[in-house]
Amino acid sequence: MDAGRIKLLPDHVANQIAAGEVVQRPASVVKELMENALDAGADHIKLIIKDGGKSLIQVVDNGMGMNPIDARMAFERHATSKIANATDLFQLQTKGFRGEALASIAAVAHVEMKTKTTNEALGTYLKIEGSKIIKQEPVATQEGTSIAVKNLFYNIPARRKFLKSIQVEMRHVNEEFYRLALAHPNIAFTLIHNGQIIYQLPLSNRLQRISNLFGHKLQAQLVPLKEETDYIKIEGFIGKPEFAKRKRGLQYFFVNNRYIKSSYLNHALLTAYEGLIKEKSYPPYFIYFDIAPKHIDVNIHPTKTEVKFDDEQTVYSILKVAAKHSLGQFNLSPSMDFDSRPDLEVPYDFKNKAPKIPAINVDPEFNPFKDVDEGLPAKIRPQKIEKNLAYWDAFMKETDQLSQNLSDFQSVSSGNLSLDIESSLNQQAFQFKQKYIITSKDQQLLIVHQHRAHALVLFHKLLQQLKHESIPSQQLIFPVEIQLLPHELNLLKTNIDKIIQMGFDLSFFQDAVLVKGVPMQLKTMAITHIFEDILQELDLTNPDSLNQIEEKIALIIAEKSAVKSGQKLESATMQTLLQDLFQLPEPAWTLKGKKVFTTISSKQIDLKFDL
Ligand code: ADP
Ligand code: MG
Repeated sequence: MDAGRIKLLPDHVANQIAAGEVVQRPASVVKELMENALDAGADHIKLIIKDGGKSLIQVVDNGMGMNPIDARMAFERHATSKIANATDLFQLQTKGFRGEALASIAAVAHVEMKTKTTNEALGTYLKIEGSKIIKQEPVATQEGTSIAVKNLFYNIPARRKFLKSIQVEMRHVNEEFYRLALAHPNIAFTLIHNGQIIYQLPLSNRLQRISNLFGHKLQAQLVPLKEETDYIKIEGFIGKPEFAKRKRGLQYFFVNNRYIKSSYLNHALLTAYEGLIKEKSYPPYFIYFDIAPKHIDVNIHPTKTEVKFDDEQTVYSILKVAAKHSLGQFNLSPSMDFDSRPDLEVPYDFKNKAPKIPAINVDPEFNPFKDVDEGLPAKIRPQKIEKNLAYWDAFMKETDQLSQNLSDFQSVSSGNLSLDIESSLNQQAFQFKQKYIITSKDQQLLIVHQHRAHALVLFHKLLQQLKHESIPSQQLIFPVEIQLLPHELNLLKTNIDKIIQMGFDLSFFQDAVLVKGVPMQLKTMAITHIFEDILQELDLTNPDSLNQIEEKIALIIAEKSAVKSGQKLESATMQTLLQDLFQLPEPAWTLKGKKVFTTISSKQIDLKFDL
């Protein structure tokens, strides 16, 4: 009789398959190893990373350690010390319980471990590669455990290739680190990347931990939230509405000190801000729920970032009420008085001129206290925060002059196509809804999106300029200080040459950068926002493609400096803009692929009249 077709998979294959679920990228390893360290009762956990975790992820803890037998068992699949039977599943106090993580990690990487319990004189050294134990021997080591994971996915080239740039992987690692560090302020954490200490977090309370991670200024932007019922206890901090950011981030929920994602609870919280913040802006929040384990199920997702409450609706309402209460209690409802806020730094001469902005409609673009201000030389500093026409006109005249020179130059230098387009442009143009410029060209009605057109023109001018020289810098009268996360500081420092070339003048402090000068072209004063955008681009850009970085920064400057929708334009300004636009090689589309203008042919118009 033939042997049956069905066979048990060899362990190392089963482990590799399990690894597919547990280990997606270096950050997943970080999470598993750090959670194990927490479960082992460590009160200091050190995370050491090289190359975003692609070369090394090491976690060193001072927890209970393992004896030689446990050290070996730990790498077996379904080996766990944390549950003994199914009922234990409903009273979980630990992070891990599946007993899969170490086995999975060891299946797809080179792993070395040193571990020692208090009871033993010597510890255990263990080396495993692709599930195979290479070496096990006694070793002199500290009490606790150190696990080093090297060359992740070395034996699965397809997965290895799938890893993103060092910066992107490091961003994920950072995020995992934030989540665990925020959930456990009573534990000291250290993070080292490529030999540099990024964080050294002492034991503290929650608020101190938040500010040690994200900068001390954040503390002043938060208000406490607290609510307790028989079912659940909620504590935490939520952002004052005026500090809502344009980008998501710094939004954290924890259930029993475990980070969770929940769009449902996010919704509950945001409804409390209704009318207080703009659409598409995001207040920071750090919310900690405490609830009896029997009311939640954490076992519904392999990476365990989701939690099911047995009464979600109740949690929703309690959270919403708590948040409203907390925003109200700290007097953040409509009558907020900006002038009496010492935590907001306002340059002296600006303070007297700033009009009051109704709190109900806070627009971060025009927040006078944060970064709209401090910036530009007095001669071009707006007297009002809101769209100041005189200011824009002065600016546009400047631009006009520039582009006039440029088009003069071009008309003598060539009889090219763009010249024909230009000459076919109607000399009359008017503005529609302060958003579009309407004119005619070649028997067609032409409708141009003013902001996109101007951004595109400015972008090309910047690139043109960069070909020959650095972009000149204008010094700020009031340099702007921006608090940054350590990895963001690193990003800036790594790319400092490019940034200087783009016209920025910066000095670095321990956890902040001082912007002393900005590119000449930069006509916005929202310098903090610009930096947020630049950092995001740096973070996402492959460091090998430096030109890309220049282009991306140029694009940010152009977009920030371009006239906005809602801005009234003089007719000469519109003419110049149209001429500049149609001299570009590709005027029809923005770099992000959005339409710059549209046309309606006379035929289409005739049709509307049944002609
Ligand atoms: P789980 O955490 O789900 O139990 P793991 O594969 O992550 O599964 O770990 C297996 C076992 O190894 C744990 O149950 C624990 O007993 C032991 N272990 C892992 N890491 C550590 C550590 N840092 N200190 C002490 N024991 C550890
Ligand atoms: Mg574990």
